[in-house]
Amino acid sequence: MKGRFVTPGKTFEAVDPRTGEVITRVAEGDTEDIDLAVKAARHAFDHGPWPRLSGFERGRIMMKLADLIEENIEEIAALDTINGGKLFAHGQVLDVPGAARTLRYFAGAADKIHGTVLKLSKGLQGYTLREPIGVVGHIIPWNFPTILFFTKVAPALAAGCTMVVKPAEQTPLSALYYAHLAKLAGMPDGVINVVNGFGETAGAAISAHMDIDKVSFTGSTEVGRKIMAAAAASNLKPVSLELGGKSPLLIFDDADINEAVNIVFGGMFFNKGEICVASSRVYVQEGIYEKFENKLVEKAKSWVVGDPFDPRVHQGPQVDKKQFEKILSYIEHGKREGATLLTGGKRVGQKGYYIEPTIFADVKDDMIIAKEEIFGPVMSLMKFKTMEEAIKRANNTTYGLAAGIITKDLNVANTVSRSIRAGIIWINCYTALDVDCPFGGYKMSGFGRDCGLEALNQYHQIKSVVTPIRDSPWH
Ligand code: NAP
Ligand code: MG
Repeated sequence: MKGRFVTPGKTFEAVDPRTGEVITRVAEGDTEDIDLAVKAARHAFDHGPWPRLSGFERGRIMMKLADLIEENIEEIAALDTINGGKLFAHGQVLDVPGAARTLRYFAGAADKIHGTVLKLSKGLQGYTLREPIGVVGHIIPWNFPTILFFTKVAPALAAGCTMVVKPAEQTPLSALYYAHLAKLAGMPDGVINVVNGFGETAGAAISAHMDIDKVSFTGSTEVGRKIMAAAAASNLKPVSLELGGKSPLLIFDDADINEAVNIVFGGMFFNKGEICVASSRVYVQEGIYEKFENKLVEKAKSWVVGDPFDPRVHQGPQVDKKQFEKILSYIEHGKREGATLLTGGKRVGQKGYYIEPTIFADVKDDMIIAKEEIFGPVMSLMKFKTMEEAIKRANNTTYGLAAGIITKDLNVANTVSRSIRAGIIWINCYTALDVDCPFGGYKMSGFGRDCGLEALNQYHQIKSVVTPIRDSPWH
């Protein structure tokens, strides 16, 4: 079974969110298919070359895979556009080159994995080994099918793990292409096993599997909870969870308003609001509030929603009908709760899952639209008076993934960044990220860090080795 595509009996539809039409049908993996994939990964880990290669050799194969990804930028970007509604132009300059960069970053780290020397009590010496954790299950969502695939897979490969990857049901296509490219790059059979399928079946089988040593998950808090419960009820495998957010962006009176409007727009409407760090709660200080609100509404008028292949377009369709309907129902909630709809609020066109960039004002902190993750282009705008008030309200959430501050005052920037409980704070920018930046949540946004050298820790076990030193005058 290892090293080739197999066709289980069942299939499911891959849909184009631009039209709602079916692109193709994809093999649907179920519990038995996960089992086969785990067997392949287990065998590759216990007996295969991958964990036994030098870090340098692993890095070489990963570099080759990065090259192949770059050689196929257009095809890959097109797959995520057709299947996920993502901007083709972004795929070409952000997602796909970002995936290659992620592979290269961790490829470069693969031969720099060291333990430490321990100074134990007199007559003993010791050291630590960093060993690969084993077979990893990666469960990924649909909003960044390419970047998140490699954010999970690359550090696990560098660490020497083998793995089973379940992409989201909405975006099954590009991951299959990566399995193909991995083989071309010379990745040994059984190291990366991609199984498409549904969360309740294939995903649940991964989290409950007795032969998977670790699960790394990105997605909703609700599913993260289920994964942790399944891990606890099976073999107590460690999990890392990168979950949702309801991230605050605080704009102070001294901000350059035009610059702030651009940052806020990008922070909220980038990737059609389908981004876990979306700046969905925008707090503006009262001195500039009115001017800011007017400029924001003006900016919305120039924001083009449409076919994601069109280079003039800023925002494509939401990923599927379910998300589309969920977002529209949140908009209705907002209106019913008494928030003021400043702009947007409606679908665009009659076909596909397009929604206008939507901004609510007069939002109260306890309204549903201010509390729950909408995962679509819907922003809540709020006013504040003092820094202390802004900090308090920013922290008034069960989430803690990201936050932003726009100010020229260094003291304000420093105080706020230390006072907000979130995994990443952006000062005078938003969604600015690179692969060397550890990424993950506080509170119910999860735990564990993807990206940066921190990510390698998730895929290692630390083993201590202790031995006596006889007749040594030193201690
Ligand atoms: P989700 O259900 O959490 O999906 C993420 C991944 O988990 C998918 O591969 C999914 O498979 C799988 N999954 C679902 N149920 C599972 C289970 N019981 N056991 C194991 N795996 C399971 O997210 P969604 O339904 O696609 O989106 C719902 C909400 O999640 C969004 O509105 C948003 O709030 C949040 N979300 C957050 C992120 C993020 O980056 N933090 C990303 C995506 C979504 P299926 O594809 O079959 O469901
Ligand atoms: Mg789901």
